[in-house]
Amino acid sequence: MEVSNPAEATSACWSCGEMRAVHFCTACGKVQPPKPVDYFSFFGLPRKLNVDMGALEREFYELSRKLHPDLYIRGQEREQAWSLEQSSLLNDAYRTLKDPIKRTEYLLRLEGVELEEQSKMATEKARASGEIKKQVVPADLLEEVFELNLQLEELRMQKKMGEDDPALIEEVGKQKLALEAKSEALLDELKGYWREWDEIEASGDADGRRKVRDKMVDLLNRRNYVRNLVKTVEEVMED
Ligand SMILES: [Zn+2]
Repeated sequence: MEVSNPAEATSACWSCGEMRAVHFCTACGKVQPPKPVDYFSFFGLPRKLNVDMGALEREFYELSRKLHPDLYIRGQEREQAWSLEQSSLLNDAYRTLKDPIKRTEYLLRLEGVELEEQSKMATEKARASGEIKKQVVPADLLEEVFELNLQLEELRMQKKMGEDDPALIEEVGKQKLALEAKSEALLDELKGYWREWDEIEASGDADGRRKVRDKMVDLLNRRNYVRNLVKTVEEVMED
């Protein structure tokens, strides 16, 4: 769906011709065909990374009730279809905005950033074939990743031979915990950038915006790398 300016997200109601809000006619209350707005506008929220979670949740529950397809069983066929469409849009929007990582990725996409979808796919492929070395390793993780790869290789080998080395399993488990802590730390760092972004966004400083944006992209890529590494460790340990 094309994303339009929230200011254009109102027009005439299909039923009574009055001006309408995004989801419902403010005059007669009829559900409206979905308007192509971004997820923030869908909830009437400003396009900011620091989201008022209370407001988001309230809007979500209220809209879930009002848009529920059961309410339109006796309505016209198109009203039923719209309530279904709007409900599924609502769920997608809520899931995306409520999650800190998904929300950041979504906003960056709205800003025209193509996040590493391709590299994500490459990662999945590499993981499926048991390799994890093809990705660019974040510089601050080079040593740990090198060490961990050796240990994982050894662990795979031992599992294949039916051997059991509790010390190695414990060591790999420790590394996994360290990676999870790293991933949490990156999330905290990201939250710091949210503040920077929201402030700069309001000031209209294009250069500053690009800088924060690039920092967020870099951080998300690093975090993605760490998450994939954790998954790989889990797979080897559970094998
Ligand atoms: Zn109306």
